[in-house]
Amino acid sequence: MTLSYKRDKIEGKFDAIVIGSGLGGLSTAAFLAKRGKKILVLERHYTAGGYTHVFKRRGYEWDVGVHYVGDVHHPKTMMNRIFNYICDKPIEWADMGEVYDKMFFGKKVYNYKKGKKAFAEQMKEYFPHEAEAIDQYIDLIYQAQASQRNYFAEKALPKPLKWVLSNRWRKKALKHNATTLEVLSSFIRDKKLIAVLCAQFGDYGLPPAESSFMMHATLAKHYMNGGYYPIGGSSVFFERIAPTITKNGGQIFTNAEVTEILIENKKAVGVKMADGQSIFAPLVISSTGVFNTYQHLLPSEFTPKDKGNSLLKQVKPSIAHVCLYVGFKHSTESLNLQKANYWIYPDHYDHDKSINDYLNDPDAEIPVVYVSFPSAKDPDWDNRYPGRASIDIITLASYDWYKKWEDTRWMKRGEDYDEFKEKLSQRLLEKLFEHEPQLRDKVDHYELGTPLSTKHFVNYQYGELYGLENSVERFNQTLLNPQTPVKNLYLTGQDIVTCGVGGALASGLITASAITKKNLMTELI
Ligand SMILES: Cc1cc2nc3c(=O)[nH]c(=O)nc-3n(C[C@H](O)[C@H](O)[C@H](O)COP(=O)(O)OP(=O)(O)OC[C@H]3O[C@@H](n4cnc5c(N)ncnc54)[C@H](O)[C@@H]3O)c2cc1C
Repeated sequence: MTLSYKRDKIEGKFDAIVIGSGLGGLSTAAFLAKRGKKILVLERHYTAGGYTHVFKRRGYEWDVGVHYVGDVHHPKTMMNRIFNYICDKPIEWADMGEVYDKMFFGKKVYNYKKGKKAFAEQMKEYFPHEAEAIDQYIDLIYQAQASQRNYFAEKALPKPLKWVLSNRWRKKALKHNATTLEVLSSFIRDKKLIAVLCAQFGDYGLPPAESSFMMHATLAKHYMNGGYYPIGGSSVFFERIAPTITKNGGQIFTNAEVTEILIENKKAVGVKMADGQSIFAPLVISSTGVFNTYQHLLPSEFTPKDKGNSLLKQVKPSIAHVCLYVGFKHSTESLNLQKANYWIYPDHYDHDKSINDYLNDPDAEIPVVYVSFPSAKDPDWDNRYPGRASIDIITLASYDWYKKWEDTRWMKRGEDYDEFKEKLSQRLLEKLFEHEPQLRDKVDHYELGTPLSTKHFVNYQYGELYGLENSVERFNQTLLNPQTPVKNLYLTGQDIVTCGVGGALASGLITASAITKKNLMTELI
């Protein structure tokens, strides 16, 4: 399905070039392929799929950037409609069960239960004195999320319509664009409840006093009907979407790094590759993120501005992360691993403080440890890896801590780097053993991916976990659109919508609608 730019030649003519093969690039390419376009996808990494690719070592496999997905519980959800439209064979989902997230604050555990009613009842059991506020919270996240439909649809509008409709289409959603903490503390008195309701904040990377409530509401609603795992692991996204592109004459190349978007008379005409070769096409779509596109692939004069204010000054790269990939030569069953994710917090309820303390001092208590058990979630795991189990342990990180090793080579970054990693790996493993003591002494393999790994493999210059920061400022600005100041050049991917499988998938719909000047949503429905 994929060709390698190192080995194979790019031949023939294409209607469009898509830079990057993450879910944003792939879904855009597939939408266009379904409309008869021949697409060339160019991926810099040796594996396709962006953050949905899997990483294999020593007889194990780990997901890099997908641990659970929401809103796929019913065939008519927008997520399922898009997936079914762009995949040549439907993705099958494994339900994570009644409890999909477990939030640990010290010794206390709070379960996130599947379904609005069950979630509310469970929260009321923990916080009976806030029963009314819990109902209000659930209504509010549904309202806020529903109000965003036009906010995102506006992005696909052609310029003349934008002038007329933009304010009206964005207004309703932007009413909710205050920090999550501001919104929740306006009607919830118990700070513990606020911390528990924000305990998925790692899914969007910013604590309550810094995140936009628009993002929080989207995420909370996304998982309200439970967590689901793609059967076969996250590589199935690429495996199911790619044939839609190739069946229509498209090609997907790995090891194909683009270094420049070629422009003639203010129009995109193709791309330049790292080896100097130029490839031409009448349409170019970048899914490499806003910073990569505007800082590295285009001259600075093409960065969009609003009243003289550059987009790159209005948004920030998101925080970075580390992930410890752990393998066991024991079956998931014998280790008694469960499907629910663990979110392990310090023994207090102030996410903002613990993040700030940690970012100022990496030896401070780890503010959040997220543990995912892919081998327990995936019913197909034992067919592929019998007698083995895998775990991912993630926490947030500052890119600055790793800057001093920025110019070293992958796998050869030096002893001090390895020591830094080893210390952090042991701290993360200890957190795991506190909750799953039976795993101590059973670890067969572990290795830590750092923000430098993120930069090396997926090309995020600051090791970004989620592209752009999901702040209030991000949602207020008007420049994160598929259209760019360069004719025939479009953006797609998480940066123009939100992070997450849902955001990247929706970016395909939005960008393809902007390109074709058709509301492709109607085709799905
Ligand atoms: C640790 C982690 C856990 C996550 N967990 C979840 C989860 O459980 N559920 C969920 O919904 N979401 C999760 N996400 C978020 C989700 O994976 C992403 O938001 C989404 O996959 C982003 O898709 P994208 O296409 O926008 O970007 P990417 O997947 O990053 O794709 C961009 C692609 O562009 C390529 N590229 C960059 N520069 C160039 C160049 N110059 N030339 C050619 N190619 C280039 C990159 O190599 C990459 O393949 C997680 C992310 C991370 C990092």
